[in-house]
Amino acid sequence: MSQRTFSIIKPDAVRKGYTAAILAEIEKAGFKIVSIKRMSISKAQAEGFYHVHAARPFFGELTDFMSSGPIFPMVLEKENAIADLRTLMGATDPAKADEGTIRKQFAASIGENAIHGSDAEETAAFEIGYFFAGIELK
Ligand code: ATP
Ligand code: MG
Repeated sequence: MSQRTFSIIKPDAVRKGYTAAILAEIEKAGFKIVSIKRMSISKAQAEGFYHVHAARPFFGELTDFMSSGPIFPMVLEKENAIADLRTLMGATDPAKADEGTIRKQFAASIGENAIHGSDAEETAAFEIGYFFAGIELK
């Protein structure tokens, strides 16, 4: 059954000009891009998005980074989309990511790791609703 997940091309990847290459990997892996836009978010908006990490020592660094420049939030669809996108992204730390994954190819460090992907159905639903209105998701 087809499933939707949420992803962000993060500011490091946008700055380096990797947006199109990352989208090509995503399409090559069989995902349909249901909706996508370019935008910047404030520090407070990044804090709301990553609220589950509020107690972590890297929260300040993470939210400064995510509000440091344009991002491409998007909604992706395919069978098993949530798990398959996580596999395609690779490990959080690019040094530990498998060959051929997006983070192995395009990420520089654990803090600046090119792409976000939802980790469960409930987080995907929250994250899609955080960035997109229903009318953008037909
Ligand atoms: P994301 O949620 O962005 O898809 P993830 O699910 O692989 O990444 P999380 O554990 O949810 O990883 O952490 C969220 C983000 O916080 C990571 O993508 C990374 O940018 C940052 N982060 C995680 N651990 C660290 C760390 N030890 N030091 C600095 N930043 C970190
Ligand atoms: Mg995560």
